[in-house]
Amino acid sequence: MLEWLIPQAQMEALRAVIDENDKFVVVAHKNPDGDAVGSSLAMMLYLRSLGKTADVVLPNAFPDFLTWLPSADDVVVYETAAERACELVAAAQVILCLDFNSPSRLGPLGESLCSSSAQKILIDHHLYPEEGFFSLMLSAPEACSTAELVYRVIYRLSSVQALSLDVAQAIYTGMMTDTGSFAYASNRKDIYLIVAELIAAGVDKDLIYRRVFYNASTSRLRLMGYVLYKKMKIYSRMNAALITLSYDELMHFKVQKGDTEGLVNMPLQKKGVRFSCFLREELPGKINVSLRSVGDFPCNTLAAEYFGGGGHKNASGGEVHDTMEAAVEKFVKAMNAYRKELTE
Ligand code: 5GP
Ligand code: MN
Repeated sequence: MLEWLIPQAQMEALRAVIDENDKFVVVAHKNPDGDAVGSSLAMMLYLRSLGKTADVVLPNAFPDFLTWLPSADDVVVYETAAERACELVAAAQVILCLDFNSPSRLGPLGESLCSSSAQKILIDHHLYPEEGFFSLMLSAPEACSTAELVYRVIYRLSSVQALSLDVAQAIYTGMMTDTGSFAYASNRKDIYLIVAELIAAGVDKDLIYRRVFYNASTSRLRLMGYVLYKKMKIYSRMNAALITLSYDELMHFKVQKGDTEGLVNMPLQKKGVRFSCFLREELPGKINVSLRSVGDFPCNTLAAEYFGGGGHKNASGGEVHDTMEAAVEKFVKAMNAYRKELTE
């Protein structure tokens, strides 16, 4: 069963690339989440255990609740260390692209990647990878997380004995965060076979849960109260919900990276709500869009049509470069266009 998801030909091609090269860089998407950081660090540590030179380069900083991850200090962040990041990318023979499938998801780091002559290898679980950009694609949208794919890669290339505790912790974190603690996208038996192996390797899953989720700042808790009380708009007849936070509000609550993580899921707890949208004005006039749904409602097609983005069926995102009013208007238009899917 663990042979599933990645065809043997791709595994063998990846094995050859790893055997034949020494300098690897692992990159993941901007605004990196638990899966992006967890899967990248796991891959980096695995490659180092094989005696390779391997580094993780991320477009921008990751949230505080992930800083405990093994070797998190080794991550090179392009936004704050562009020179070092570009140096590593330029020196790499192989760039492993994890948890994203198009260079546009890297922000400015994408340009440095595009101009690099290194082989680019995709290991990812998003739909519709950008063909042509990658020389080898391990793309499996059925996977619960990229971390699950990294587990499968290690298992298939080196057997389960190669799983150090550090690698296992990083993989578990990616799997846990990308499934909302195994609340969605996680109905496959083999996910739990993998979890069992991770626990056998020494992972304390309860401790990881606490490190990730019981790690909120006061400002996050106050922000949650404010959002639920004042800022959550429920469109009962449409089974939809909207949360907006303006740049001024984010400043007022001294919101740090990661403080708004998961807010978009909260309206889904209300009976009947199938679709939730969170508009966060990161910078004046730059609005980050987060979409979540339950069941069959495809927020990725809505994200692509209305917000220049994409993602998974139940978790997608995009951007609006305009005022908050304009973004809300777009949301309302999108919701109305999907009335049938939302209400039937
Ligand atoms: P989040 O709401 O956590 O920022 O993003 C949820 C998911 O939506 C991500 O894992 C990613 O798959 C997708 N996503 C977010 N923003 C974008 C975007 O701008 N473009 C695309 N293609 N996907 C996005
Ligand atoms: Mn992911």
